[in-house]
Amino acid sequence: MTLIIASRPNAYTGSPLDRVAERRTDDAWIAAALASPEVIIVPVWRARSLLRGVDVRRPEAVFLAGPQAAAILARADHWAFLGLRDGVPVFSVDVSTEDNTAPLLPDGLEAGFADLRATMGLLNGHDASVLAHARGLMHWRTKHRFCGICGSACEPKSAGHVMHCTGCGVDHFPRTDPAVIMLVHSKGRALLGHSARFPTSTMYSTLAGFVEPGESLEEAVAREVFEESGIRVTNVRYHSSQPWPFPASIMLGFYAEATTEEITIDPEELTDARWFSRAEMHSPRDHGFMLPRGDSVASRLIEDWLASE
Ligand SMILES: [Zn+2]
Repeated sequence: MTLIIASRPNAYTGSPLDRVAERRTDDAWIAAALASPEVIIVPVWRARSLLRGVDVRRPEAVFLAGPQAAAILARADHWAFLGLRDGVPVFSVDVSTEDNTAPLLPDGLEAGFADLRATMGLLNGHDASVLAHARGLMHWRTKHRFCGICGSACEPKSAGHVMHCTGCGVDHFPRTDPAVIMLVHSKGRALLGHSARFPTSTMYSTLAGFVEPGESLEEAVAREVFEESGIRVTNVRYHSSQPWPFPASIMLGFYAEATTEEITIDPEELTDARWFSRAEMHSPRDHGFMLPRGDSVASRLIEDWLASE
């Protein structure tokens, strides 16, 4: 098959931040940056981001400038330095242990904590990337308060990017779990499945699954496709990736060619899987099904495959 190149960037990519990782270990610089009046704070509360306009489908990220964030900083469970945005330091701050966030926000601020995923495709791309970054890192911090080796408490180092065990001394680093998502095709048709977890009963999407220890991405693609659909594949080819910190993944998009046709679904994973023609996928509504939303990797794989004919 011909190589299909990603036609545009994926959602949650294109961060405007310079991560300046070399600054993380400069405690004095980090402390001064956090205390500076121009500092930008990205609040996170129970995996939700600070947004306005969600109800009217015109979401905007809300960042707090130094003095506005005093109450949030005073009640922070944990924080981390994300990087510089046009030279201005940006930190994420998690206040998840607070039951009521209203007193932490500036008076009159028309914003609230909401799920970033609900804004997909509607939010400014740069801001969405920053919110995803903050959410993913704060999730990791929340889940690594204690050492997985000896059970002792961990304490943050490197501006919140390392959790150092106070017992055995091991450093724990942020983790990202790779997941593969793949459009399997054969003779101009694509294999799409429906899961009971999908938001609508008529939605069909590309297959996906987590990479397991000891396998390559290509092997993970082949294994997941076979487990879920009984289809064997070859010629696994990379398309693009997407940060997916919901809570801790990166989606790695692939194409794969089927070498078999007969579908046997895994009922634990899928309720249906079928071969769809290009014509059906060009006008799914006319054929009684729906395809995934605009900014997901699944959607990008389908879009670029349909454009490649
Ligand atoms: Zn330990």
